[in-house]
Amino acid sequence: MEYISTRGSAQALDFEGVTLAGLASDGGLYVPREWPRFTAAQIADMRGLSYVELAVRVMLPFVTPSLTEDELRDLCTRAYGRFAHEAVTPLTQFDQQHWLLELFHGPTLAFKDVALQLLGRLFEHFLQKNQDHLTIVGATSGDTGSAAIDAVAGRERVDIFMLHPKGRVSDVQRRQMTTVRAPNVHNIAIEGSFDDAQAMVKRMFVDDAMTGRFRISAVNSINWARLMAQVVYYFAAALQLGAPDRKVAFSVPTGNFGDVFAGYVAAQMGLPIERLIVATNINDILYRALTTGDYSAGTVTPTAAPSMDIQVSSNFERLLFDCGGRDGKALAEQMRGFEASKAMQLTNAQREGAAALFTSVRADGDDMVRAMAWAAENCGEVIDPHTAIGLHGARNCGIDPSVPIVTLATAHPAKFPDAVERATGMRPHLPSRIGNLFDRQEAVVELPGDYDAVASFVAERATPSS
Ligand SMILES: *Cc1c(COP(=O)(O)O)cnc(C)c1O
Repeated sequence: MEYISTRGSAQALDFEGVTLAGLASDGGLYVPREWPRFTAAQIADMRGLSYVELAVRVMLPFVTPSLTEDELRDLCTRAYGRFAHEAVTPLTQFDQQHWLLELFHGPTLAFKDVALQLLGRLFEHFLQKNQDHLTIVGATSGDTGSAAIDAVAGRERVDIFMLHPKGRVSDVQRRQMTTVRAPNVHNIAIEGSFDDAQAMVKRMFVDDAMTGRFRISAVNSINWARLMAQVVYYFAAALQLGAPDRKVAFSVPTGNFGDVFAGYVAAQMGLPIERLIVATNINDILYRALTTGDYSAGTVTPTAAPSMDIQVSSNFERLLFDCGGRDGKALAEQMRGFEASKAMQLTNAQREGAAALFTSVRADGDDMVRAMAWAAENCGEVIDPHTAIGLHGARNCGIDPSVPIVTLATAHPAKFPDAVERATGMRPHLPSRIGNLFDRQEAVVELPGDYDAVASFVAERATPSS
């Protein structure tokens, strides 16, 4: 498969190239030149496969010829072998119409493990082959940091430097990062806010003194390989509910539009999806864009579902590209306008293309609490605040009751014990496999909120690119 940029001027790359590159050089995001398509018979033939075998079928068209089928199978076997549930992403039932897809059985209890456990191994595979080194630099306000660290800890040829704002992440979140002891993992607590840490990371990506020596990379969800890995669980859930003979809808708690875009990809590949529900909290830029065509960023309001507290959703650009006739030059122009004014109108083609598959539902704090309480009281299921926003969307989207709706459970409830206890009266406990985070030693370096201090810390410890 060949990959092209949504802004039309960066060079096309193969799968190996897009995995290591992240963002395209013209500022766009990489997408496959065309969507691979399965027939109904091919989809029916996927019934009953193990998660790993299904992953190989679904992802093979995207990775060929950069990986052979056996190499892909080997990477998937190792990545998904680390999940605590045999089914990797088990499906449970709420009631006649509603289902829950549990995506939190990975090592850090977040759905991001599904993609990052594979990405860490893809990095290692390609770097080994090229005898090169990668330096991952990131800023985190909590969840992404621990999933990324776990995915690359101890891997050869990769170093990770993860910045977090000192004193502003929860004890559990910090300990999930700092108790991973491996020589290639560097946790840095920065004086300042998350935005200060993020600004330093962005500056490092354009600092010639750093990029000239090191191959600096990010692990955020603009990376195509992450999206690709998420397509698999849409197939897994729909097959269990009767696909390809029956349509299924999905409700997805959305932040950066990565997870729900993977559902769009599954639909383009032939999976019969009735509707994708883009569930947002009060940070509702996507809700406004999908209901009125107005894509304009406001200020971020902190909520009990912090991973959805986002105003600009990077992956939305991929949808605008695909629905807008795949015109990279026009989209580059439109995105330049957005970057200048933080606002834009969707074109008619973009609005109609999106409306054909997406519906958006917005949940405020009360809606979220009610959804958590409903799941606990009526179905005996304790769900986390992000998942609750998805469930609210599923129960309020007006889809025909004969169509099953799968809500994606993006985090384990024990990651957000206070919010869950407030809504349900029950305090969820961390699974025993996480062990006692509070007995383990932490490794973290404190640095001032000063770019030069951070850059020289990285430069002294990272391995130059070959
Ligand atoms: C990252 C995250 C999301 C949002 O996913 P996107 O792919 O950014 O839309 C939702 N819930 C949880 C728990 C997350 O960690």
